[in-house]
Amino acid sequence: MKFNSTKGQSPSLPVSEAMLMGAAPDGGLYIPQKFPAFRPDDFGDANDLPAIANTLLTPFFKGDVLADALEDICAQVFDFPAPLVALSKNKLALELFHGPTAAFKDFGARFLAAAMDRLADDDHPLTVLVATSGDTGGAVGCAFAGARAAKVVILYPKGRVSPFQELQLTCWPGVRALRVDGDFDDCQRLVKAAFADPALKKHYGLSSANSINIGRLLPQMVYYAASSLAIYRQSGQKANYVIPTGNLGNGMACLWARACGLPIGKVVLAQNANRAMVRFFDEGRYAPAPSIATIANAMDVGNPSNFERFDAGLAVLNHEVRALSVDDDTIGAQIAKDAKENNHDWCPHSAVAAYAYDQLGEDEKDDPWVIVATAHPYKFREIVEPLVGHDIAPSPALAAIKDMPMQVQDIPADLDALAGVLAR
Ligand SMILES: *Cc1c(COP(=O)(O)O)cnc(C)c1O
Repeated sequence: MKFNSTKGQSPSLPVSEAMLMGAAPDGGLYIPQKFPAFRPDDFGDANDLPAIANTLLTPFFKGDVLADALEDICAQVFDFPAPLVALSKNKLALELFHGPTAAFKDFGARFLAAAMDRLADDDHPLTVLVATSGDTGGAVGCAFAGARAAKVVILYPKGRVSPFQELQLTCWPGVRALRVDGDFDDCQRLVKAAFADPALKKHYGLSSANSINIGRLLPQMVYYAASSLAIYRQSGQKANYVIPTGNLGNGMACLWARACGLPIGKVVLAQNANRAMVRFFDEGRYAPAPSIATIANAMDVGNPSNFERFDAGLAVLNHEVRALSVDDDTIGAQIAKDAKENNHDWCPHSAVAAYAYDQLGEDEKDDPWVIVATAHPYKFREIVEPLVGHDIAPSPALAAIKDMPMQVQDIPADLDALAGVLAR
């Protein structure tokens, strides 16, 4: 299997090379040349994530240097559950926050790290540079902790991340966290400058791990495969999903899983006040906009980068999919309501999906629907606790982070300083 650029101006690559590239040289994103056609029976009676992952991802790794390592990678990465919790008849929650940083990004970040670590050695150094404004860097840092050969360097703006976020960026053994004297744009500028320096790029094997990387998207299909198979085996029906949507990575993974033949029906993309997909479905044209700050801030994306992939696969992807936008007051009201009426605490992102579920037609609600819960509410407790009126307990993984020591290095916002750190 090869992967093409959405812009069609770069060579097609096997999956490992596409992962190391990140974005394609022509500025496009990598998409599979074709989707394998699975039937539910092809998964036998496997119901654990590693086995389902291995079956689902094998065609995408066919002919790749990592083909023989895929089974090991899947066992290493999918070592925490993605439980499907029944809320009421035909209303389920898919909890994607049982990983080490308590958000769904753990799945993609850990898969990419496990793959990249196997691609690096003394002759092929690999250093992942990440600029973060808070959340993503934590999942990536954690994913590379304990890597054998690949290294990761995280840059974040001094004084502009929350204390808990800072802990989550700086607590991973072997991960270098740099506190940059500047803002997030300075961090991004530094990373770009390092990539643009051919000597630095080659010597350290600089690579990125941002959310458009194909190595993050493919493994996200796995929990859609597992949950839809579980529902199909039990009821003979397709599973329908409501997905909190920002950059459209998680939504894209669901549509790709459906394109691979998994028993998935309708997909509702639930957005906050950033409504690029809603506008696309309403007006039939894509019009990116500046991002708007909301209480579901991991979804504050005005120009979802994965739209490029959605657009490239329109015929297969763009059916039985719609979008809905939810404002901050409504998100807050939904969190309060579900805590009171259903004794269920959502994070603000998951609450966007819970609200979108409530808006479905009564006849639609006779079918099985899955609300995708993307983060543990403790991560956003400053927002959630006042709305629900009680303390939120951390997940075990989040509780463990609180006792880990911080390791951080301060640097000025200039390339020489970054190059100096890389040299040590
Ligand atoms: C990143 C993130 C989202 C948005 O996911 P996309 O793949 O960008 O659409 C939703 N919820 C949480 C908690 C996130 O961290």
